[in-house]
Amino acid sequence: MTVPINLAILGATGSIGQQALSLAEAFPERIKITGLAAASSVRPLAKAIIKFRPQAVSVLSATEAKKLVDILKDLGLNKSIWPEIFTGSDGVIQVATLSATQTVLSAMVGRAGLPPTWAALKAGLKVLLANKESLVLAGELIRPMVDQIVPVDSEHSAIFQALGGSLTGEGIRRLILTASGGPFLGYSKDELKGVTKEMALSHPKWSMGPKISCDSATLMNKGLEVIEAHHLFGVDFDRIEVLVHPQSVVHSMVEFVDGSILAQMGPTDMRLPLAYSLSYNSRWPILDDIGSKRSLGIQPLDLTVSPLTFAKPDREVFRGLALAEAVGRQGGTGAAIMSGANEEAVGAFLAGMIAFDKIIPVVEECLSLLSSEKVSSLDDVFLADKKARVLAKEIMEKNMVN
Ligand code: NAD
Ligand code: MG
Repeated sequence: MTVPINLAILGATGSIGQQALSLAEAFPERIKITGLAAASSVRPLAKAIIKFRPQAVSVLSATEAKKLVDILKDLGLNKSIWPEIFTGSDGVIQVATLSATQTVLSAMVGRAGLPPTWAALKAGLKVLLANKESLVLAGELIRPMVDQIVPVDSEHSAIFQALGGSLTGEGIRRLILTASGGPFLGYSKDELKGVTKEMALSHPKWSMGPKISCDSATLMNKGLEVIEAHHLFGVDFDRIEVLVHPQSVVHSMVEFVDGSILAQMGPTDMRLPLAYSLSYNSRWPILDDIGSKRSLGIQPLDLTVSPLTFAKPDREVFRGLALAEAVGRQGGTGAAIMSGANEEAVGAFLAGMIAFDKIIPVVEECLSLLSSEKVSSLDDVFLADKKARVLAKEIMEKNMVN
């Protein structure tokens, strides 16, 4: 008999969270939802409550909790089966560390994902990690607990799969992260000046939340992933390479000391790495053509459709990648400064306040004005992140006035 995984999903209304819930719906005998956390979007959350009956949920504020209660009343859910409703950052931690939970999917976006990820790790739980910012900000502190983490990010899942469901392996020479290149592949610096939010959010291969879509367009996402890979797999920055592979068929590769390269290929669908993170000593039948009754709409790869190409990224035009690689090499709080400034600048771009090609310069200016310090505790990380956010806002306001 299959024993279901007791799973809490943090970021349940987001792109990753909703895809994880579609797996829970398709495989109810394998996944039992214990808790759900989201910032707002209470209607999709209410729908998930009715379908999956978690013990507890969390939303950002008392106002959102009130809206959720109203919707649950409207939908006529019997009060005896309502979940416990928590609020705020403490509420997410309560949901992450419920006694019934064995496994936590960390899929909130940005810095907000770090405290609950940390709490789940400290509680000894298994963490399926989509929230790459946790490792970027606090990788040095998380490293001793890294064996509790299973990667969800597609590149890191690819490497994990190439290593046979392990974070380590014998004779690794290099990790090769592939990058689609984003919507602006081949653009010049001048061409980047005129791009709009809609263009930045139209990723050619993946459908994702707004922050990671924008990071993919600047290539900062790949920079964050290089740092994520360094902390996850314990590999030096000199041995992590990025190659642009616009077809997004090969999700990443491991090169070994004998010259062999193992690649993981698959459909561009996050439910594949998500299913592997849940199952990783077995494979779940998620493809549509294997005769399964539960259709997830995932088609097998057709390898005859297009040639596969690999090229060096343009680090001159997409300076975010080179910046993150340098910051990662330096260590300390630099990565928290970079991540905090980037999150503010991306937020300002998405709000229509700054131009796309000003995102990375704001991050660069923050990094030049704030010094990177040694990381001894989470407080060091949060302080660096906060200082970077304040400074990024000042820089952006000053530039808007000028
Ligand atoms: P998204 O914007 O679609 O969803 C974010 C989720 O986090 C939402 O449910 C939102 O309500 C919740 N959230 C945000 N702030 C919160 C807070 N303070 N408290 C509680 N909940 C909060 O983002 P996404 O695209 O699903 O990405 C989530 C994470 O996964 C990111 O770190 C991203 O880099 C990573 N990731 C995403 C993809 C993808 O395909 N979307 C792929 C790889 C990695
Ligand atoms: Mg990725």
